Order: sequence, then structure tokens, then C-alpha cells
Amino acid sequence: MAGELCVLCYRIARLMKAIRQQLESAWYLFEKSRSHLAGKNLDEVQIEVYDLAFSLAELKAANVMLEYAGIDCGAQEKSFKESVAFLHVAETIANLHTRLRLRPSAYGLVASDFEPDHLELLDQIQSSESLQSLGQRFRSEGGGFPPDHLDEEKGLMRRTFRKFADEEVAPLAEQIHREDQTIPDSIIKGVRELGCFGLSVPQRYGGLNPDERDDSLGMVVVTEELSRASLGAAGSLITRPEIMSRAILEGGSDSQKIKWLPKIAKGEPLVAISVTEPGTGSDVASVSLKATKVKGGWLLNGGKTWCTFAGKAGAILVLARTEPEVRPLHRGLSLFVVEKPSNDGHEFLFKSPGGGVVSGKAISTLGYRGMHSFEMFYEDFFVPDANLIGEENGRGNGFYYTMRGFSGGRLQTSARAAGVMQAAFEAALRYAEDRHVFGRSVASYPLTLQKIAKMGTSITVVRQAGYHVAGLMDEGDGQLEASLLKLYACRMAEWVTREALQIHGGMGYAEESPVSRYFVDARVLSIFEGAEETLALRVVGKALLDGTY
Ligand SMILES: Cc1cc2nc3c(=O)[nH]c(=O)nc-3n(C[C@H](O)[C@H](O)[C@H](O)COP(=O)(O)OP(=O)(O)OC[C@H]3O[C@@H](n4cnc5c(N)ncnc54)[C@H](O)[C@@H]3O)c2cc1C
Repeated sequence: MAGELCVLCYRIARLMKAIRQQLESAWYLFEKSRSHLAGKNLDEVQIEVYDLAFSLAELKAANVMLEYAGIDCGAQEKSFKESVAFLHVAETIANLHTRLRLRPSAYGLVASDFEPDHLELLDQIQSSESLQSLGQRFRSEGGGFPPDHLDEEKGLMRRTFRKFADEEVAPLAEQIHREDQTIPDSIIKGVRELGCFGLSVPQRYGGLNPDERDDSLGMVVVTEELSRASLGAAGSLITRPEIMSRAILEGGSDSQKIKWLPKIAKGEPLVAISVTEPGTGSDVASVSLKATKVKGGWLLNGGKTWCTFAGKAGAILVLARTEPEVRPLHRGLSLFVVEKPSNDGHEFLFKSPGGGVVSGKAISTLGYRGMHSFEMFYEDFFVPDANLIGEENGRGNGFYYTMRGFSGGRLQTSARAAGVMQAAFEAALRYAEDRHVFGRSVASYPLTLQKIAKMGTSITVVRQAGYHVAGLMDEGDGQLEASLLKLYACRMAEWVTREALQIHGGMGYAEESPVSRYFVDARVLSIFEGAEETLALRVVGKALLDGTY
């Protein structure tokens, strides 16, 4: 028995060594392709850069997964982790080769760069037997996953929020989605009581974030659990306070911090973020909502759109143009807090006590229901000087404060993706076990087992990479990694929910199956918080071309 164990250990050690070597070769190939593009005009190599951005996301995640696989734990759990990590690395290598082989000369590559010495390894890891065995592993754990290696405190956090989400959110999630309701107060009250709105607010301002160092991991764990129950009715509630509190911490005056941060932490008022306009979304620097200086404040005039939760919110962070003459354009923007009464309806109109009106109307959407995203119009709407973030010093700095606000949003969106994927995975596994076709359960077929193996792997990768990026961000780093992770996670969420729906057959397409909600909810993730193309090209692509990735 001991001898057999030794042979097994030896085989795994050899496999690990081979995997590491192949991953190194993949990095080499990636770097060779990237350096061929270095210094080129981004718009002329968009197609190549876009593909490389996804490969970089997968490669970075592959490094994380090998580190994760190496963390000590029981033998059974370790082998589970290794299988998952090896599968991700194999897929990463295969994907890289597929992308580069599409147009080798565009990357300065020749046939000999694609030495097929990785094929044997891929054959081994992606063999039908290996995939089925990994699928069985996820299946036999009843949908369990390899260890997350969270510490006691974060583990408790996960269990607490899972209980809340299972008991308070999940039972209402379907109704909210199908009837396009506004999130009920029972959920908001619970989220308030658990302190969620203060996850990004430092303790000295009444939040849960330690004063000495950010705790992004806590935010990731909580977001995933709430999103598992519902993306629209719970998982996204923390996003807005997160963006607003980071922006105020970055640019707010002392009195603004003292006034707003404790309120944001309490969730009173609820808040919203308004950057996008009918004429501009990805190109934030081009925002044109006009803010004109008048005595004691500013008049806002113009349209905004897609302002999520604008109805329920009592305070909206609005990006507006205060300096129309200033170039470059992003230096002419400032951030305001617009105060208004909270409203449960799909439409509202509010007259500012200082004059002017703001109106809002909810946009009908495929999914992501519960908060509603509003198109809005400001007409001579008065905002006092005190509500200009940074006051006089904040003029022209709104773009920077907004970007600071968004910095944690990408990581958070990956955690939202993880939660939706997890829910879809669990639903698919349950259905596949119960449903019998041609005399056996759907779950027992090799093709389904492969799907289960790959879905479970993608979720584990997004989860572990999320924990890793959270650590980087808490050290003041990890901005690019957060963008890469968001790219990967949102794509995976689309694929995992697609497969989960497919496993349900016709029932997956029925509104009464929650999996249809997961599918439409997942689709929004690669649009907001940095649309996929904008992230891949303008954020990651820029770093690829100038070599700062
Ligand atoms: C459900 C939902 C909720 C939202 N909530 C909010 C919110 O609360 N607050 C807020 O301010 N906004 C919000 N948004 C808006 C969101 O941030 C924008 O939709 C997003 O930034 C994209 O902007 P856009 O829709 O104007 O698309 P555009 O900028 O018009 O882009 C159109 C397409 O072109 C692609 N593209 C962009 N640049 C390039 C390029 N250089 N090369 C090639 N292709 C490119 C984009 O990726 C996209 O696919 C929300 C959106 C949705 C759908």
C-alpha cells in the first residue's frame, strides 16, 4: 500500500514538473508574441491585442492555480486541487496555441514556435478518463469544491452570508426577477444589519474595513455569497457604496468624509453612481452633462442613463463637466452628490429645493432586475457647493476620483460572476442527477461529466484568482490583475450559465427554472464596470503594448 502511494506521489510530482515546464513555454510564446506588437498603434492591432489580453488573463490565473495546488492539505483534497489546477493550465496552453495559430505572422511567429511537445501532456490531462474522473469528483462531493483555504474569520463570514442569502434572498429572488419588482425592504434591512454597505468604508468612519489596511477579501467573499442567491436583488447592492466610498476617500474634503462615509456604511441613504450618458459610456472622458457655476452652487443640465438604483437611492454620485474649455477632456470633469428622496417606483420626478428638476425612468432589461437602471434628465437642477466632491479642490478632478471608485469594482464584479456561476452549477448538478434520459441520469454520461469538470474548474479558478487579486489590491497593487480577472470571470460566467441551462434541456428555457435567470444575469457582467472590449484594449492592451503588464 505504501509502495503504491509512493508510485502515485512520484507520478504526480512528474506531472507537476511537466506542467510547470509547459506553462513556462506558454509564457515564453506569449511574451514573444507580445513583444512583436510592442510599440504598435493600438487601433491597428486591436484583434491581436484582444486575443492576447484573454491569454494573459488565463496565464496569470494559471500561475495562481499552481500555487493554490501546492498549498498543503489532506491527500484527497490535494489531488482534487491538482486535477482542477492541471485542467486550467492545460486549457490555458491549448487556448493560447489556438489563438496564436489563427494568425502567426501577425505575432511574428513561425511554425517552429509551435513545437507540439505539449500535446502528450494535454492528451493526458484532457483525456476522457481524466475529465470524467474530475466530473465524478465534483459530483460525488454533491457539488462540493476543493478547499478554499479561507481563514477562520473569512470562513465564518462566508457561512453567515450564505445563511442570510439562502433564508432571506433566495426565496424572493425568482419573484423579484419575473415580476420586475424593486428589492424589498426585508432584504435591504438584512444587508444593512449585517454591515454590508460598510464593507469598503474604514472603521473610523463607521464601516467594517480595517483602518490600517483594506480588506478586499471580505468584500469578495460576501459578494459571492449574495450573488449566488441573486445578482440583481442582493449581490450588486455593495457595488455602489463601494464605488462612492472609494471616490470620497480619494477626493472628498474632511467634512465630506465625516458627513457621507458613516451614512454610506449604514445604507442610509442608499446610493447610486451616474457616469454613463446616452452619448457616451466606455469613453468616460467624454461625459458631457453640464454643470454651470451659480451663486452657492451648480446647475446640472443634460441626460444620464443606466443609473442603477437611482430610484431607491437618496444620494447619487454624478460625473459632470464643470470646465468645458479644459483639454484634455478628462480634466474638465467633477463629481457631485445629488440628494433626492428614495422612491420605489419605476419612474420619479424630483424638484430640488434650490430649483430645477431631475426625472428618471427605469429601462426594461433582460435580467439584472431588482435595482432597475434609469435613464435620467436634469433641468437646471441646483446642487450646493458643499456637494462638489473635494469642494473647490475637486474641480477638474472628477475623472480621477471616479476611476479610484471603480478600482475595486472590477474585482467585485468577478466575485459577482463567481456567485452566479456557483448557483448555476448547483442547479445543473441537481437537475442532471434527477433527470433520466435513455435509461440513465444525465449526470452519469461522459459528456455531462466533462461539463461538470470544466464548470467546477472555471468557478474554482475565478474564486482563487479573486482571493489572490484581493491580496494584491490590499497591498496597493493589482489594478491590472483585477481587469484581467474581470475579463476572464465574466466570460466564464456566460459559458458556465450557458452549459447549466443546456443541461436542463427545455426546462432551462422556461422562466420558472432559476437557471434561465442566471443565464440572463450573467450576460450583463461583461458590459458594465468596464465593457469587455474597453478593458481588453484600453486597459490591458495599453499595458501589453508598453510592456507594463
Ligand atoms: C444593466 C446595466 C447597469 C448599468 N449600471 C450603470 C450605473 O449604475 N452607472 C453608470 O454610470 N453606468 C451603468 N451602466 C452603463 C455601463 O457602464 C455602460 O453600458 C458601459 O460602460 C458601456 O458603455 P456603452 O453602453 O455606452 O457602450 P459603448 O461605449 O457605446 O460601446 C459599444 C460597444 O463598443 C465596444 N467598444 C468600446 N470601445 C471600443 C474600442 N476602442 N474598440 C472596439 N470596440 C469598442 C464596447 O465594448 C461595446 O461592446 C450600466 C449598464 C447596464 C447594461
